[in-house]
Amino acid sequence: MYDVAVVGAGPSGGYSAYLMAKQGLRVLLCDRAAFPREKTCGGGISQKTVDLLEFDISSVVERRLRGAWLTYRNRDTVVKDLGSRSGVAVLRSRFDGLIIGKAQEAGAEFRPSCSFESARREGDTVELTTSGGTFRAKYLIGADGVFSRVRSSLFGRDVVTYAPAVEAWIYVPHSVIDGYEDRVLFDFGGMPGGYGWIFPKADHLNVGVFSIFGSADINADLRRFIGMYASLAKHDAIEFRGYAIPIGNRKDWYQEGNVWLIGDAAGFAESFYGEGIYFGLRSAVVAAAAMRETFDRPRERVYPEMLKKELVTDLRYSGLNARLFFSFQKFGFYRMVRRTYVNRLFAGLISGEVGHRECFYKTLATLPYWLTAGGTLERSSSEF
Ligand SMILES: Cc1cc2nc3c(=O)[nH]c(=O)nc-3n(C[C@H](O)[C@H](O)[C@H](O)COP(=O)(O)OP(=O)(O)OC[C@H]3O[C@@H](n4cnc5c(N)ncnc54)[C@H](O)[C@@H]3O)c2cc1C
Repeated sequence: MYDVAVVGAGPSGGYSAYLMAKQGLRVLLCDRAAFPREKTCGGGISQKTVDLLEFDISSVVERRLRGAWLTYRNRDTVVKDLGSRSGVAVLRSRFDGLIIGKAQEAGAEFRPSCSFESARREGDTVELTTSGGTFRAKYLIGADGVFSRVRSSLFGRDVVTYAPAVEAWIYVPHSVIDGYEDRVLFDFGGMPGGYGWIFPKADHLNVGVFSIFGSADINADLRRFIGMYASLAKHDAIEFRGYAIPIGNRKDWYQEGNVWLIGDAAGFAESFYGEGIYFGLRSAVVAAAAMRETFDRPRERVYPEMLKKELVTDLRYSGLNARLFFSFQKFGFYRMVRRTYVNRLFAGLISGEVGHRECFYKTLATLPYWLTAGGTLERSSSEF
């Protein structure tokens, strides 16, 4: 019998297990995978994410970033540096492993290779059936990702909307990786209705595409994007991976009595950059705070109320920002990305200085200014 059973040991589940074990709760953390495991993910960790975590992650940092190359189909590139506010690049196997280790140190019991199969609610407890046996807990936290089985078995099948995102790990000579000068590349014409990215890691480049509008053939979109970059042509090896990013919870349904959803399982990634780790961790923080308040009263709805205030509104605005910007991507790049004023707002989304709501209203309110003036970022002659 546990106080809390957390299903899924990605960043959301691992961090929620850490926070709840620190409160003195008896926590089970289980995951169907054998660890260490990789997760399809760019591994871009924004500085606001680094700031949010209670512990240091420098032991798993592959590359400390200093800014971004912003481009349109590898042309007319501009540079945006954020210095120490840029964030870092990690491998998910090591990043997730670090968080799980912290949860174990705080007292959580971790069971890898333990797949959630079903759950039955009985009064104020939940009985979980897994490939590793049956467990009982006072609370069940569903942190099992975008295709959450906890969600589909206890909330329904059509709660979360998601969009496909694919990536390739491209092993190129070190001189090519160094050519990116510790900057991430965002290509705002690299994917129809979305963007393409190139994240430099220690021994490879993580190259991917994403659009909230989806795609008829996203693998072909990725190949087309890779084809725009001469520097990617001479690779030693290339590995393709595909998955999905959640872009909304259609029903605002995060709690079913003592079963709560967090992270991708709840639909918590933002729609503009597809950033999910930060919002997953934020939902873990909110869940831990709500748990502290309502542990003995599982029927209370403090958790969804806190989510609405802390997270959900901002995520809705990320959808508006993405729809507006990516419906007019060429205009967006030449008139917005390259204008220093608007750029500061969109870069602030990554550093954490600006929220999506603020970005939306400030962009609209200053439209006459940045359409006519507003300055442009430093132009670069670089082509990759
Ligand atoms: C191509 C791509 C690139 C991305 N790039 C970035 C990026 O650069 N930065 C960023 O912030 N976000 C990025 N994201 C989004 C990010 O990966 C997710 O938002 C993030 O992983 C969510 O964390 P989570 O812990 O909620 O879920 P996950 O990381 O998906 O973890 C869920 C865990 O649940 C486990 N699980 C699943 N089913 C079961 C089951 N039945 N029983 C037990 N365990 C189960 C899985 O094994 C997994 O370990 C990207 C996503 C994609 C697809």
